[in-house]
Amino acid sequence: MYTPMGIHSSMTHHQLIIVGSGPAGLTAAIYAARAELSPLVLEGMSPGGQLMTTTEVENFPGFAEGIQGPQLIAQMRQQAQRFGADTRMETVENVDFSDPLRLQLTTNAGVYTADSVILSTGARARWLGLPGEEAYWGKGYTACATCDGAFFRDKVVGVVGGGDSACEEAHFLTRFASQVHLFVRGEAFRASKPMQQRVLESEKITVHFNTQVTQLLGQPVLSGVELTDSLTQDTRVMDLQGLFCAIGHAPNTSVFGDFITLEDNKYFRVVDNTRSNIPSVFIAGDCGDWRYRQAITAAGYGCMAALDAEKYLTHRA
Ligand code: NDP
Repeated sequence: MYTPMGIHSSMTHHQLIIVGSGPAGLTAAIYAARAELSPLVLEGMSPGGQLMTTTEVENFPGFAEGIQGPQLIAQMRQQAQRFGADTRMETVENVDFSDPLRLQLTTNAGVYTADSVILSTGARARWLGLPGEEAYWGKGYTACATCDGAFFRDKVVGVVGGGDSACEEAHFLTRFASQVHLFVRGEAFRASKPMQQRVLESEKITVHFNTQVTQLLGQPVLSGVELTDSLTQDTRVMDLQGLFCAIGHAPNTSVFGDFITLEDNKYFRVVDNTRSNIPSVFIAGDCGDWRYRQAITAAGYGCMAALDAEKYLTHRA
């Protein structure tokens, strides 16, 4: 029941609530709905997760010609709804998981309780925070070489970052790009030694230490960057046809941190297959995975979490 303000006036109870609506959450919803668990999916206010800001997805199996990220999400949502998943555009604002048998979630629109919960809240790429940065997303500026590298065949590209991700992205891009410039803001890598070695040994990669990207250039598609020397503050412009931001990801876990154990890097800690420290709460997708971060791996985790939740509910009953 809704009040005139659009606010739920009563608390509803569900067997399973899935938080998040990227490939992990929606795959969990498909499996759980087919298992007749009638899942409620709290999608967040901008449903779909990271795929919504991706253009062509060429590596999701089953789409030989590729598919647009938002279209892939729309298909997954329809599939989940077809089996009875209830999807709602609501954001979880706080939770009380002190009773594992009655988990409570408060959204911007109401209060829910559940026998079990799957957290598939995803992660977001960290961006540089430069003025006008958003306008370049998907227009030569991206955060995923695995997803978008093939669009930069024979082009000159840049990668920002000095960690394992940046080194891995730079190395991966050498398969396509004619030249890769790696911009590291400090005087040293943060990446592991073998990863650094791979980068330094590549003839296609030029590493620029003490170098910060301070402006994105081109209209409307990125065609270059302004670089600032971290030591002297001297600036210069470099022409590039693509720029990959690889300065880390931030998982969307903070709302749950009082109850769900996090790793040092703030990702959810998975203690047993997909289970969290609470036996009725399961983890799926990028919010618990900082290694693979692919739509297909997130979907796979979503499937696993739904199967684990189903098993938990069966044994509990
Ligand atoms: P990290 O946090 O390890 O590294 C981030 C890098 O980005 C650092 O070099 C940092 O610089 C730089 N950086 C941060 N902010 C800015 C900024 N505003 N401008 C320029 N540079 C910036 O993130 P990763 O994503 O690389 O790795 C995350 C975790 O995942 C790590 O534990 C890593 O080991 C792991 N991982 C493992 C892989 C593997 O084993 N195959 C592959 C990828 C990741 P600074 O050092 O100066 O702070």
